[in-house]
Amino acid sequence: MIALLTDNKYELTFEPGGLFHRAFCCTRPASIYNKCMAQEIKLIRSRRRTISIEITPDAQVIVRAPLRAKVSDINMFIGEKADWIDKHLNKMKARKEKEKENPRRELTQQEIRLLTTRAKRIIPQRVRYYAEMMGVDYGRITIRMQKSRWGSCSSKKNLNFNCLLMRAPDEIIDYVVVHELCHLKEMNHSKRFWAEVEKVIPDYADRRKWLRDHQEEVSFSDV
Ligand SMILES: [Zn+2]
Repeated sequence: MIALLTDNKYELTFEPGGLFHRAFCCTRPASIYNKCMAQEIKLIRSRRRTISIEITPDAQVIVRAPLRAKVSDINMFIGEKADWIDKHLNKMKARKEKEKENPRRELTQQEIRLLTTRAKRIIPQRVRYYAEMMGVDYGRITIRMQKSRWGSCSSKKNLNFNCLLMRAPDEIIDYVVVHELCHLKEMNHSKRFWAEVEKVIPDYADRRKWLRDHQEEVSFSDV
């Protein structure tokens, strides 16, 4: 499963044996660890195979780890990712400040229902149109209200889209549709993936930026 995340949540996952191996093999200067020290990090252990770091909308840092992962290994991973944590934590904190100045309200259930109904009518049409143009097959299309992603694509070729996209301009909806359809060709965000997106949407970078810059307006209503 690969998802186009909104800025509501930053998540970093890694597979033991890959990045992790490198993380605990290299010696890092202590300053990198110190950066994270000031921040409280919540550790949640569960039956999982990977370690992930999540920055929540209320600027909390949550680390999820396998039941038996060694604390020293987890710390090593956190140290390795200190810059990433810092960067995204600051972004979240800045957003919280901005929210205080310019309060917005959550959409009502009624508004979400209307958006979902519209999305169910419009998104499948756009998917059909672009899938035919690109020559790809897809499975089911699901529309849901989601806080953390605009769209996603599963290995079973099922596509999932956020109903909030209905509050964005048409060209942005098309960008997300094409983005997810390109994952049917490339299940990653490699250069090859972006080259596929560019073939269909030459100005994809602008649309991507729009989505990042206008997320608040799309997700909330003015008070
Ligand atoms: Zn993607």
